[in-house]
Amino acid sequence: MSNPEQAAIGPNEEIKVTKIETFVLTNSWVFVKISTDAGITGWGEMLKDDAKACAAGALEVAAYLVGKDPRPVTHHWQAIHRGAFYRGGPIKTAILSGIDMALWDITGKCYGVPVYKLLGGPTRERIRVYGEVSGETGVNAIKVGPQASRPAFKYIEGQKFVDEVTERFKALRDKHGSGVDIAVDFHGAVQPPTAMLLMKALEPYHPWFYEEVVQALNIDVMAELAQKTHIPLATGERIFTKWGFREILEKRAATILQPDICYAGGITELKIIAGMAEAYYTPLAPHNPQGPCSLAASLQIAAAIPNFLIQERGDNEYAELLAKPLPPVCDGYRPLPTEPGLGITIDEDKLMAMVGEPGLYPTRLDPDDGSVVDW
Ligand SMILES: [Mg+2]
Repeated sequence: MSNPEQAAIGPNEEIKVTKIETFVLTNSWVFVKISTDAGITGWGEMLKDDAKACAAGALEVAAYLVGKDPRPVTHHWQAIHRGAFYRGGPIKTAILSGIDMALWDITGKCYGVPVYKLLGGPTRERIRVYGEVSGETGVNAIKVGPQASRPAFKYIEGQKFVDEVTERFKALRDKHGSGVDIAVDFHGAVQPPTAMLLMKALEPYHPWFYEEVVQALNIDVMAELAQKTHIPLATGERIFTKWGFREILEKRAATILQPDICYAGGITELKIIAGMAEAYYTPLAPHNPQGPCSLAASLQIAAAIPNFLIQERGDNEYAELLAKPLPPVCDGYRPLPTEPGLGITIDEDKLMAMVGEPGLYPTRLDPDDGSVVDW
């Protein structure tokens, strides 16, 4: 049987990690599974862009973790992070994130409660999500790119391009009215001068927030742009650990943080980042382009922190991997998770059917001159 019942154990009962396994799927999602001698297993997800590197790296953590009690999760986070001479970055932090998530999953199952109950939650009664607006999903917040007939290839785009983006966004606003929150994701693929032109042009149509108006590699540039608009800026899907977010907060480069629970350091670290953000009156809107562990762990954080704004792709169902579907979104909100741990059960037969070679992202070129551009 692929999904055995996992009964809670007493707080004084011993439990030890026995095995770490990883699974790379054809859609690039990458999972880590941690097994214990009590029959309780935990699941986590890592960085899909570097799926094979994460899968290999997570297996190396077995040398530290096998034989240990999985429940002192913060201690293990510290040991894995600080045990390395070279720290941080997307791949190492994603490995740490996946392991952290799986350890929290085990710990919640040990005690028979959702993770947020071990973190002092719930802090809310239901969890707002954004995704696809439709009568079926009930979602009332969406995010779009700067829509045009082509991406913003040029360092400084001309008026024709700016007008096209503006007209398309105005049409979207007219269609949905003021009752739907519409964010605009520049995806770090727009250079600062063009970003400024678009930010000003779209302002009259009330974008909810602007995301990754530029790459988060030069925080001072993002901070300059933030000072030139009253629309909130959001960033964080390419920022890792509390040390990465410290600079964003201190320089006021964004007023919405979007850490990814699979890359930024897992449940342990997102709770800390949320605390740092709270001191700057800044909410979290966690990033999520991945699978069911990513959403499930993010929902645990939403239920455990005070300064939660909304969850990305919170309307995903993940029926292709789960033994039991998530409870449906209602009026733009998901109900609080109720099952122990992360609150989901991965169907391993379904998972194994999707294991395979992950796809690669193509390089984007400017069709006019063949130079490399951001995407
Ligand atoms: Mg994004």
